[in-house]
Amino acid sequence: MIVVLLGSPGVGKGTQGVRLGRTLGWAHVSTGDLLRAALRQGTALGLEARKYMDAGELVPDEVIVDLVREHLAGLDPARGVVFDGFPRTVAQAEALDAVLAAAGRAVDRVALLEADDTILFRRISGRRSSPSGRVYNIYFDPPRRDGLCDDTGERLIHRADDQPDTVRTRLEVYRETTAPLVGYYDVNGRLVRVDGAGGIDEVQAALRAAVGV
Ligand code: AMP
Repeated sequence: MIVVLLGSPGVGKGTQGVRLGRTLGWAHVSTGDLLRAALRQGTALGLEARKYMDAGELVPDEVIVDLVREHLAGLDPARGVVFDGFPRTVAQAEALDAVLAAAGRAVDRVALLEADDTILFRRISGRRSSPSGRVYNIYFDPPRRDGLCDDTGERLIHRADDQPDTVRTRLEVYRETTAPLVGYYDVNGRLVRVDGAGGIDEVQAALRAAVGV
């Protein structure tokens, strides 16, 4: 089964996607994580992507689609996939449909996570990540030791693109460029809406019920 998590920055796609993937044994594919990994490794793609990411703008579609295509090619085709932060434009959604169709697969469900702006801002401003990608929130999901990752002891970072000015740009980009995907996917009962305002466990339960897994 293939599930796309759609929703504004800060709505909890990452947290929910990681949990869903772990529980069901599915691959969790986050293009934001793939780009941050490329950046840490200092690849040409990572360095190119950085200027867009730091400004809160979208990395060009061709770059993202190639990245996803390459990543999917390395996954077991029988395994479920939960996409988080991809697709973000109609062109990316069309490209994903084509890549999946070539492998005899398709997007089965799109879960739109929704929460109001006050919650989104708090979730984004409280977010802290470990260099290896584990994400905490100082208000809702704090680490056991202040400022340090529970798993690795690494110092947690406040992402450059989680600073207030960049967050505003990211929310605008979402409304203008990504929100139209709701119309793209809202056919044949593929789109389900999930209230993303509650606690992590509550949203996860609602998500699983809505997707039917
Ligand atoms: P995220 O971790 O999903 O919030 O992504 C962080 C940043 O990476 C975004 O603000 C974009 O600059 C870039 N990015 C991630 N996914 C995509 C995508 N599907 N299309 C374009 N840019 C992306």
